[in-house]
Amino acid sequence: MQRYIVLLLTLVAHASVAHAQFDPTKVMREAQSVAQRFPDPAVHFSTPGFRPGREDFTSHADVLAFLEALSQESPRVRIEILGLSQGGLSMPMVLLTDSGKINSRLPTVLIIGQQHGNEPAGGEAALVLAQQLANPQAGLLRRVNVLIIPRGNPDGAESFKRTTANGIDVNRDHLLLNTPESRMIALAVHRYRPQLMLDLHEFTVGGRWVEKFGGLMKYDALVQAATVGNLRSADRHPRAGPLCATYLRKPCEPWVDVLFIPHHWRH
Ligand SMILES: [Zn+2]
Repeated sequence: MQRYIVLLLTLVAHASVAHAQFDPTKVMREAQSVAQRFPDPAVHFSTPGFRPGREDFTSHADVLAFLEALSQESPRVRIEILGLSQGGLSMPMVLLTDSGKINSRLPTVLIIGQQHGNEPAGGEAALVLAQQLANPQAGLLRRVNVLIIPRGNPDGAESFKRTTANGIDVNRDHLLLNTPESRMIALAVHRYRPQLMLDLHEFTVGGRWVEKFGGLMKYDALVQAATVGNLRSADRHPRAGPLCATYLRKPCEPWVDVLFIPHHWRH
C-alpha cells in the first residue's frame, strides 16, 4: 500500500500539467541543469488527468464521471456520496472491497487526497489507486478494505485554492468541525472506523525555503506518522510510535531508496 502512495505521489509531482484555475506564471522554474535530473517517468496512467493530450488537472465533473464508470465496470467498487461542499459539489468516497461490501474481519484503510485544493498530486494519485484496486488481479483487497476520498476539499480542488470556500483550512478543522468538508470526513471515520488513514499532501521545495535559506529543499518525499498532540499521553496507544516505525516507515524505506527519491521522515 505505502509503496503505491509514495510512487504515485512522486510521479504526479513531476507531471507537467496545467489547470484552468492554475496560474503557471507563479510556478518556480528549475534551472535546466536541475530539471534534467528529473525526466518524466516511463509510466502511463489512464485516469482523466493523465490521458494523452490532457493539459488540465482532473475536474470535479471528470472525477464523478470516472468514478461512476469505475463502479459500473467493477463489482469491487461502490461509490458513496458523503454530502455536499459549501459550493454545492458532492464529495464522493470510493469503497473498494473484494466482495463488493465491507468485510468486517479485515482492517480498513482510509485514504484522503487534496484536503488542500492546490495540492493536486494526492487527488490524482487517489484516482489511479482506485482504478488499480478495482482490477480483480490486484490481490490487496483480500487483505484490507480500502476507502478513498479523492478530494477532501472539492471546492478548493476545483478552484485550485488551499482552503475551503469560506477560507477555512479543512486540514486544521478536524477538532472544531466548522466546515461541512471536515464533518463529512469525520462522518466517514466514525462510520467505518479505519485502522489506518493516509492523508496525501504536497509540500513546497521552493517558496519559504528560498526566502529562509536561499536554497531548495532536497527532499522529494516526506512521510509523517500520526502524532496526536491533543491527546493526553495516558490516552495515546503506548505502541503507536513503534508500530508506525515497523509497519509504515520500514516498508516504505526500501522503495523510496530504490527509486532514488530523497526522503525525510517528517516529525
Ligand atoms: Zn497540504
